Amino acid sequence: MGERLGGINLHLLKKLSEEIGVSGHEDLVRNLIRSEIDGLGEIEQDSIGNLYLKVGEGHPRVMISAHMDEIGFIVKHIDKKGFIRIELVGGWDPRVFPSQRAILIDKNGEKLEGVVGSKPPHIQSRKEMEKAFKISELFLDIGMSKEEVLERIEIGCTGTLYSEFRDIGDFVVGKALDDRVGVLLLIELAKAIDVDFETNFVFTVQEEVGLRGAGVAAYRINPDIALVVEATAAGDLPGVREEESPTSIGLGPAITIMDKRIIVSPEIFSFLKRVAEENNIDYQIKKPAYGGTDAGRIHITRSGIPSGIVSVPTRYIHSPNQLVYKKDLERTFELLKFSLEEIPSSGLY
Ligand SMILES: [Zn+2]
Repeated sequence: MGERLGGINLHLLKKLSEEIGVSGHEDLVRNLIRSEIDGLGEIEQDSIGNLYLKVGEGHPRVMISAHMDEIGFIVKHIDKKGFIRIELVGGWDPRVFPSQRAILIDKNGEKLEGVVGSKPPHIQSRKEMEKAFKISELFLDIGMSKEEVLERIEIGCTGTLYSEFRDIGDFVVGKALDDRVGVLLLIELAKAIDVDFETNFVFTVQEEVGLRGAGVAAYRINPDIALVVEATAAGDLPGVREEESPTSIGLGPAITIMDKRIIVSPEIFSFLKRVAEENNIDYQIKKPAYGGTDAGRIHITRSGIPSGIVSVPTRYIHSPNQLVYKKDLERTFELLKFSLEEIPSSGLY
């Protein structure tokens, strides 16, 4: 690892994946991005926490965004023995929680490891064995006495399930690839592209709790056109019917026509497909209508902002072990690069 794959820096993806940035607490991820984009253009931050990198001048004014935040949890209670109870942040399947490794940010901003504890099979009744644990039955164990726990942790500390980023053959696996793959692609694009029109790379906050940062960012920039770069669910798995699988691994970037929050304008949809075809980039159309992205908010900001979505198919999304096919990442980079370059001549705005 560390070597480049097409336009992609896997070493940087590892750093992004392993950094912690639960919705509303994106500081560490934002700092990492800031250090990577330093010197590339004008950098700003707004009061909700979105990070902006502006390069180029003149029309069209383009916004291209990816969200920095990840799903996680927030501490709600510490009990008499120092076990920590949590509230989930974002769209988890709580059944993935038992026995996972967790990572928390303590009162001083230091990282702290733990595990998600639950009652072992030896002391469960037959009835208990038949049911999945609810999040209210689970707790974090950080291996410390109550006094030590209270010294480090308080209500409001955040964290998430942790897994180390790994390069496993044709795939990478890690936490938070939704949407650190998007963040990585934006950083790599900003480094690779030389544009003579205003391009705003935006790293948004709080996508996972309701697309909250993106609306603020779109209002601030008031772009002529917006592109959102996401990770999206791949459903090419045992037990999933083809018609209910939004995307598949290995077929290239997924272009959205409709999800739960947007109907993409036929012009933008056709533009992205045309760029892919003209440049011989494999792509797939994401089946309607699964999920929602920041574009759901951006396209209804101000008097409407034409918005498109390009996503990297991701297996086991919203779990600590998300799988992305490296070649899909590479092709997504190519599609985005060519699309950005061709926006001025697209007649889209
Ligand atoms: Zn996402």
